[in-house]
Amino acid sequence: MKFIVDRMYNRIARWLRMLGYDTILNEDFVDQDYIQLAKKDNRILITRDEDLKRRAEKLGIRVVTLDAPTIEERLIKLHKEVGLELAFSESTLSRCSVCNSEIRKIEMDEILDKISELTQLHYNEFWICKNAECDQIYWKGSHWTKMEETLNDCNEMIKLDNEKQNKN
Ligand SMILES: [Zn+2]
Repeated sequence: MKFIVDRMYNRIARWLRMLGYDTILNEDFVDQDYIQLAKKDNRILITRDEDLKRRAEKLGIRVVTLDAPTIEERLIKLHKEVGLELAFSESTLSRCSVCNSEIRKIEMDEILDKISELTQLHYNEFWICKNAECDQIYWKGSHWTKMEETLNDCNEMIKLDNEKQNKN
């Protein structure tokens, strides 16, 4: 499952990448770019633009509109509509949230000049973006923990929702 995301959803785009989904986001795209790229790679288009939505759907492109304000509600909607997995798999972190390239494990020795001493002290697993022009480094720090908590919250809400529906 691949995505192409309207620029107003850049936060969701970063989430999708962190969850391992190939996600295109470009500030300079016009409608035609979204349509062409969605069609080419069979990408799900996330947009709030009604006009673009209509044009894309006419061409058989799957479109998801996210109007809920919170990141949790948006993730849950994607889970319900297209089956987005709301968990970090063993292989994640698998994509760079900055540039969408794949990331790979790297030994701490190789990046000592790029991370603080405190980080070296507290973490022992690191990943680096495979795109040499990006070179973003990742570790499971507090940002990661917060994302995991958000995913847990989402899964809890989905569970409660299902239980409620089963009762009715
Ligand atoms: Zn990158």
